[in-house]
Amino acid sequence: MEHIVYIALGSNVGDRLANLKSAVANLAPQMMLKAKSPVYETPPWGYEDQHPFLNQVVKVETYLQALPLLKHLKRLERALGREVTFKNGPRVIDLDILFFDEQVFTSPELTVPHPRLHERAFVLVPLADIAPDFMHPVFDKTIKHLLEEVDQSGITVFE
Ligand code: ADP
Ligand code: MG
Repeated sequence: MEHIVYIALGSNVGDRLANLKSAVANLAPQMMLKAKSPVYETPPWGYEDQHPFLNQVVKVETYLQALPLLKHLKRLERALGREVTFKNGPRVIDLDILFFDEQVFTSPELTVPHPRLHERAFVLVPLADIAPDFMHPVFDKTIKHLLEEVDQSGITVFE
């Protein structure tokens, strides 16, 4: 059984573009890349006294279930040099699961859809590039629609 998953990538430490590129290059073989958004530069969110982020969203197909996929993504974050900092703090790479098919569930380790994606322009802008008509299974609104409700100021195309 194959699953369609949208993953948000973020980096604001080191060579940010190289960090995103190595994450995308290391999705296979567990994940097959189906689409990727442009890369955006975005102001830090939550904790503002840090470098701007580069953000991107990818669509992948995978045979992994949601929890094994999360474990795999955490392993990949560590392999790419992520160290433990603090909530919303600086990071070499952040890999978040946005949607896992149309599934809706919460467990101690994983909430799907990602509980804050609808309020984050740095996620919605790149997501709208590759999945404008995808319907958020909790809010019953398309990504395009959710994007209209957030402040996109300060977000620029990087590559
Ligand atoms: P951030 O919220 O800034 O992405 P972390 O990357 O450190 O912070 O993630 C904190 C924890 O959030 C992870 O260890 C993971 O177990 C949990 N989590 C819950 N839902 C998700 C999701 N949809 N995608 C990724 N991590 C999630
Ligand atoms: Mg994360």
